[in-house]
Amino acid sequence: IVCTGNPQYNDAGNFSGYIGACVDITEQKQLQNQKDDFIGIASHELKTPVTSIKAYAQVLEAMFRKTGDDRKANMVVKMNNQIDRLTSLIGDLLDVTKIQSGRLQFNDSWFDFNQLMQDMIEDLQRTTEKHQIITELNPIGQVYADKDRISQVLTNLITNAIKYSPDADQIIVQAEIVDNEVMVCVKDFGIGISHDKTDKVFEQFYRVSGDKQHTFPGLGLGLYISSEIIKREGGRIWVNSVQGKGSTFCFSLPIKQ
Ligand code: ADP
Repeated sequence: IVCTGNPQYNDAGNFSGYIGACVDITEQKQLQNQKDDFIGIASHELKTPVTSIKAYAQVLEAMFRKTGDDRKANMVVKMNNQIDRLTSLIGDLLDVTKIQSGRLQFNDSWFDFNQLMQDMIEDLQRTTEKHQIITELNPIGQVYADKDRISQVLTNLITNAIKYSPDADQIIVQAEIVDNEVMVCVKDFGIGISHDKTDKVFEQFYRVSGDKQHTFPGLGLGLYISSEIIKREGGRIWVNSVQGKGSTFCFSLPIKQ
């Protein structure tokens, strides 16, 4: 039961009671839980066939390469890229249900932060022909966190930078240590975000609306998941952006001894 109300005062200014309303939200809560369960089960069920399609597509590509049929092999590569997109969307939906039920697991360990950044940027550079990913990485050393989850955040910020800057040709990734924290920033020169929307982009399912925005695919989950991951690792995530000029998304992580 959720109640809202206001205190009432008589003409002399003395408190005379409350006027308010109480609503039973049991049914609403049950519906919400059913919706969460459905998303969880559906994404889980989708994962198996998609993994199997991916395996067949990889075999097919290898077969075409072997027979020298590069045209067909390249078509399968395109298929593979779309399968990866689907896998990542399913992964996002699964992560959201895990966050909501408190089941998002973390396996923290020590890892070489610069090595991770370099490997990831090399991989992500292969996904774009138009953009050059420029790195300005100071030596960070070993960091104690969940490597896969940190990769997920970095991937999300860099793929967003690529996606939302279709007319630009550069993305800058910076890393440094500031006041005993690792600070990573991803800067793009794309469409930017208006000032009143910069906080909202970290909310679940939030996507900035606008004429141009409709052409960008997505579910509005990546930044929400990223912010939950960074919060759970004890850091902060934020954005500075100028509409029409570009955005800089940054996150920090505490340095653990
Ligand atoms: P998605 O990209 O799937 O919509 P995200 O959670 O990653 O979901 O981002 C939420 C919204 O924030 C996006 O829909 C977009 O409107 C805005 N956004 C995110 N990154 C950028 C960026 N680099 N430049 C401009 N807008 C962005």
